[in-house]
Amino acid sequence: MQLLWFRQDLRLNDHVALWHATQQGQTAALVILSPEQWALHDDADIKIDFYLRQLNVLKADLEQLNIALIVLKVPLWKNIPEAIAQVCAELKVQTVHANIELGVNELKRDFDLQYLLEKKNILVELYHDRTLFPLATIRNKSDLPYKVFGAFKKNCYERLSTSLPTCYPKPEKQNLSYQIENFSQTVPSFEALMGRDSFCSSAELWSVTEQHAVKLLDDFIKNKMRTYQTLRDFPKLDGTSQLSTYLNIGILSIRQCIQALFREQQGHFHIDHEGQQIWLDELLWREFYQHILFDFPQVSKHLPFKENTLKLAWIEDSTALNAWQMGQTGIPIVDAGIRQMLSTGWMHNRVRMIVAIFLSKNLLIDWRLGEQWFMQHLIDGDLAANNGGWQWCASTGTDSVPYFRIFNPVSQSQKFDPQGDYIRTWVPELAHLDAKSIHDPYARNPDLKLNYPKPMVDLKQSRLRALEAFKGL
Ligand SMILES: Cc1cc2nc3c(=O)[nH]c(=O)nc-3n(C[C@H](O)[C@H](O)[C@H](O)COP(=O)(O)OP(=O)(O)OC[C@H]3O[C@@H](n4cnc5c(N)ncnc54)[C@H](O)[C@@H]3O)c2cc1C
Repeated sequence: MQLLWFRQDLRLNDHVALWHATQQGQTAALVILSPEQWALHDDADIKIDFYLRQLNVLKADLEQLNIALIVLKVPLWKNIPEAIAQVCAELKVQTVHANIELGVNELKRDFDLQYLLEKKNILVELYHDRTLFPLATIRNKSDLPYKVFGAFKKNCYERLSTSLPTCYPKPEKQNLSYQIENFSQTVPSFEALMGRDSFCSSAELWSVTEQHAVKLLDDFIKNKMRTYQTLRDFPKLDGTSQLSTYLNIGILSIRQCIQALFREQQGHFHIDHEGQQIWLDELLWREFYQHILFDFPQVSKHLPFKENTLKLAWIEDSTALNAWQMGQTGIPIVDAGIRQMLSTGWMHNRVRMIVAIFLSKNLLIDWRLGEQWFMQHLIDGDLAANNGGWQWCASTGTDSVPYFRIFNPVSQSQKFDPQGDYIRTWVPELAHLDAKSIHDPYARNPDLKLNYPKPMVDLKQSRLRALEAFKGL
């Protein structure tokens, strides 16, 4: 018997480990729910809810293939090796198959499993699935990992021009069915699993199923990719794919995205227009941060990518942090972004940058607190991308510019939300203001009566304070 362990890869199509398992023989599937470990990793309720909803769909899809899904609850990962060993003993498993997951805790969990099962003559096969290119294979001339995106991307382009990664087929229906007797096959609801209500359900905003994810991808490629480079920075416009949610729990694979991106070019690496190229680059940013997480494991231990930034004197100010977390900073674009995330689990990329730079530069609050808040609320929360994005914004990470990047959030707002419509959607207290005043309501009239706070910092002074703090590095 082969055992396929589903993790952040809840799909049947283009699933490397599943395909290999089913090629080797009769396969049973396993998923492990670890609420206490997820809490330690700050996984958002909305993300867990979304995961469980897709798991129900996956279970039904697996049944069509005569593959049973065992659902184990193991609160902490340290107990996973023993739990899997029991399943293996009961089902007489020869090999456990799984796709590699990144992060030091994930890698340790899998190492411990391999160590235990080896003693019982059971193999653990781990596959590269989440990235386009196997980890530890994108190297510079000195055989070292890249530290900046530009050079990493160039290497990826060279590899893609040789051949595009292709997709694995969905496994065929198994001939024999079998009975699982001693393990649960029921996917619990969020409430049953977590022992409390979810304060934010994913059901209304985020549909599950692989078919839905593929439809979103196809729709983006057909109707939005050509205008991606012009629309992608405007948070009120529907200019991006919104696929991060699906990529992160693996309802969709990165190879499916690449194949769709070059479908019109018959699967050849040929870039026809700017939208296509810029979207490819975004997928490569995702790739870059995953390779960074693997090659520089300190970033998954709350440490900065740039060691010298450890010296930074962050300000401890729980009142300011709380105002930022709740979208009450008095800077409309920042508050709009945070409130979008709190209501929907998602925030537009341009606004993620604005709010992250505001916290780490204007408020000079430790980026790790912002990173944590994002993880606790994002439906697409992903250690590699979130950490990479936060460290880039805080200038502790891979940003290659030779200065410390600080945005003026008001200018960003005027540029990327010119009519103020994004702010109007998420900060209804300001909905009646015109396009000129909405970005900085008290600028022209400090006595204006609004049910909205005044800016919590002076943007010019806080910018200078940040420059001073970073200068000392
Ligand atoms: C502070 C900060 C935190 C972030 N946290 C996360 C996170 O937890 N999870 C996450 O998936 N992305 C994160 N991002 C990256 C980016 O904001 C989202 O991937 C993007 O907004 C998702 O929207 P989309 O699917 O419409 O993207 P599109 O613009 O359509 O891009 C396509 C795909 O490329 C990838 N991508 C795009 N931009 C980036 C990027 N800058 N870094 C890494 N991958 C990228 C995503 O997988 C995305 O789905 C973060 C960015 C910042 C600045």
